[in-house]
Amino acid sequence: MRVGVLGAGTMGQGIAQVAAQAGHDVVVRDIESEFVEDGLDGIESTLAEGVEREKVTPDEKAATLDRLSGTTDLETAVSESDLVIEAVPEDMDLKQETFTSVEESADEETIIASNTSALSVTEIASALERPERAIGLHFFNPVHLMSLVEVVVPERTSDETVETAEAFVDGIGKSPITVRDSPGFASSRLGVTLGVEAIRMVETGVASPRDVDRAMTLGYNHPMGPIELTDVVGLDVRLDILEHLREELGERFKPPQLLRQKVRAGNLGRKTGEGFYVWEDGEIVGVSDGAMSSPEGDR
Ligand code: NAD
Repeated sequence: MRVGVLGAGTMGQGIAQVAAQAGHDVVVRDIESEFVEDGLDGIESTLAEGVEREKVTPDEKAATLDRLSGTTDLETAVSESDLVIEAVPEDMDLKQETFTSVEESADEETIIASNTSALSVTEIASALERPERAIGLHFFNPVHLMSLVEVVVPERTSDETVETAEAFVDGIGKSPITVRDSPGFASSRLGVTLGVEAIRMVETGVASPRDVDRAMTLGYNHPMGPIELTDVVGLDVRLDILEHLREELGERFKPPQLLRQKVRAGNLGRKTGEGFYVWEDGEIVGVSDGAMSSPEGDR
């Protein structure tokens, strides 16, 4: 299969790499040649790390790079591709424009996929003349390590498109789950649900952040507790998702006051050194003073 990947940022690099490693010819497109070069360099260093860790053979690395090329020209990335996956920034207008311009240059049979994390794929595809070829392929970061891909099915997508997308995901060694296009898909909606309840428990003094996390790591074998995961993902990111889900699905996704306070204070989690925990060099070194509040905190 020939695959076009639009956007050579974090996700575009990962998607292009795993598709090329699985034997597909991949063309990556970004808007500036510098971004294309950076993207290809990024893929090369991830593969080099893989060789160092003996996860990738030197031959596999060389063959993967041979199957990859870069361009700033949309037509080159799209016109002969069987599947085009966009990983451009999360902006509805940009995604819609991208889908429409892909359709103009692509073959009638080409599947057009979006890697959006939260936008409605139905809406992204709404301006297409052939919406039956549109789908969501939601990869997780870092793509080469995460096995899940959500196949997000918009309203007018054909069964054939869904089957081809699922087979593509299987073929690149990932595990597809198929989800109707709905707010938060499956992963964000469930992940955020656990996270928001965990924050409410901390806020109302039910248990400390560490003990809430232990309930899930030791009691349910989760690799990471919901409070720690919120710090890793970023409190601002989680707050945005909650606002979106509240608007779309109702008050059960109302963000806790404690989360808002921390975001206002700039305590966004691991990336700023403090969230519910205190972080140094990517490791937890303590619990944030403001992590536990009064039992009335949930009001
Ligand atoms: P990023 O900012 O790292 O990369 C986006 C790239 O797209 C940039 O290189 C930019 O120059 C390029 N770009 C902008 N307009 C373009 C266009 N018209 N054509 C081609 N390239 C264009 O962003 P990212 O983190 O890779 O996210 C991309 C998409 O993936 C977003 O929709 C995001 O929500 C989604 N996503 C991100 C993650 C994550 O953890 N980063 C996880 C899952 C999904």
